[in-house]
Amino acid sequence: MKNLKGRKVLVTGGAQGIGFAVAECFAGEGADVFIGDIRVEKAVEAAKTLEEKYGTASKAYKLDVSSREGIRSCFERFKEEQHVLDILINNAGIQIRRPSLEFEEEKWDLLMNINLKGAFYCAQEAAGMMKDRGGAIVNISSGTSTETLPGRAPYCISKAGINGMTAVLAAEWAKYNIRVNAVAPGWILTQLLLDGMNMGIVSEKQILAAVPMKRLADVREIAGPVVYLASDEASYVTGQTLFVDGGQNALGLPDM
Ligand code: NAD
Repeated sequence: MKNLKGRKVLVTGGAQGIGFAVAECFAGEGADVFIGDIRVEKAVEAAKTLEEKYGTASKAYKLDVSSREGIRSCFERFKEEQHVLDILINNAGIQIRRPSLEFEEEKWDLLMNINLKGAFYCAQEAAGMMKDRGGAIVNISSGTSTETLPGRAPYCISKAGINGMTAVLAAEWAKYNIRVNAVAPGWILTQLLLDGMNMGIVSEKQILAAVPMKRLADVREIAGPVVYLASDEASYVTGQTLFVDGGQNALGLPDM
C-alpha cells in the first residue's frame, strides 16, 4: 500500500534520534535512504546499519543546513550520484534554552539558520529535483510550535515558522505534484529528555499532567506518521501539520 520500495529518501539530521528512527522506518518499507548530517562519521555508521539490517541502498552525505553553501554542495553531490529524489525529510534541528531577556543575536541566528532557513533551502533544493516528477516533503515541527515553552522562545518561533512554511510551500508546489506536510512531535523519550529529567529541568509528573494519553512517545511512534505522510497513502494530504503528541495539543488546561 505504501509503495515506498526503491524510492529515494533524504533525511536531514538522520544520524541519530528521530531522524534515524524515520530513516529506519523507510528502510523497513524497502526505500533507499540517504542520511545528510553535519556529523558525517555518525551518518556513515547509520547508513551502514541500514544497509546491513534491511538490504536497501543507503549512503551518508555531509550536510550543514546552517549554511546555504553547505546545502547547495550537498544537493549537487546528491544529484550527481543519485539523479532523483522522491522524498525529503527536513528533520535537522537544535534547541537552545535561554531566557528571552538574555538571548544573544549570534545564538538566534544559529538556531534560525538551522531550524527554519535551513529547512526552507533544503526544501527548495529538493523541489528543484522533484518538480518534473512529483515528490513529498515532510518537515519536523514540534508541539511547541503552538504551545509556549518559556525559556525557549526562538525554538518555539522557529517551529511555528515551520508550520507556516509547510502550508505556503504546499500551496505553491501542488502544481508540481509535490506534497508538503509536517509532523509535530510532543514529548519523546530520547536521551535528551532523560538527561533533562535527571537534571531536574522537567519532571515526568509535569509532562504527564499535560498529556491525555499519560505516557511519553517512543521515537518509532513519530517515524510511522512521517512515513505515512510521505507515502502514497497520503496522496491527497498536503499543507498539514500533524500533531503526534498523545493528545497534548487537544487539551485545554492540564490535569490538576
Ligand atoms: P538530535 O539532537 O538527537 O538529532 C539531531 C540531528 O541533527 C543530529 O544527528 C545532528 O548531528 C544533526 N544536526 C545538527 N545540526 C545540524 C546541521 N547544522 N546540519 C545538519 N545536521 C545537523 O535531535 P532529535 O531529538 O532527534 O530531534 C530531531 C528533530 O525533531 C528536530 O528538528 C527537533 O526540533 C524535533 N523535535 C524533537 C523532539 C524531542 O523530544 N526530541 C520533540 C519535538 C520536535
